[in-house]
Amino acid sequence: MTDHNDRHHGDEHDRPLSGPALRVKALESLLVEKGLVDRKTLDELIDTYETKVGPRNGARVVARAWVDPAYKQRLLADGRAAIAEFGFFGYGEDMVVLENTPKVRNLVVCTLCSCYPWSVLGLPPVWYKSAPYRARAVIDPRGVLKELGGEIPDDVEVRVWDSTAELRYLVLPERPAGTESWSEEQLAEIVTRDAMIGVVQVTVPAGSRR
Ligand code: FE
Repeated sequence: MTDHNDRHHGDEHDRPLSGPALRVKALESLLVEKGLVDRKTLDELIDTYETKVGPRNGARVVARAWVDPAYKQRLLADGRAAIAEFGFFGYGEDMVVLENTPKVRNLVVCTLCSCYPWSVLGLPPVWYKSAPYRARAVIDPRGVLKELGGEIPDDVEVRVWDSTAELRYLVLPERPAGTESWSEEQLAEIVTRDAMIGVVQVTVPAGSRR
């Protein structure tokens, strides 16, 4: 546990900041004070990596798995190696890909801090690092899923996966109905970050029927 905490990766926590996080904060304050960077620009940059650039990697992996059964097999057997086929690498942490099915929903959390599959999803969203999510994902996963994406039928099993510094998880969501004729690129466009964390399912956005 100490090992895990010591090896988190510089995100904000609801406890005193670690050495590196303190240094980052101090550096940010100094750069803002000197007028070298603007906090709003920084926030926009972070938002870009949280919601746009980062999760696009994972979306490409998911779309490939949907159209290529052999790739999907490799991905489920050895997530790290199959993801590396795209040139996406972590820092040596293992990656396990969890397949959602009509009978199983997977939900990813880091109960201790903020471990996240950043090689495929980028920076974690603020809510992922928040104490309420970290606690509730374990205590009441069905409640969390209901709030974010709708009720989970009783006959669907919900599995919660607690990430660590050594082991990260990526959810392989179900391919939505009605996308049978879509290309891999079209499919990648609709795969969202939240679906790959497991809090929602992938849906076909209104107006994007092909
Ligand atoms: Fe963590």
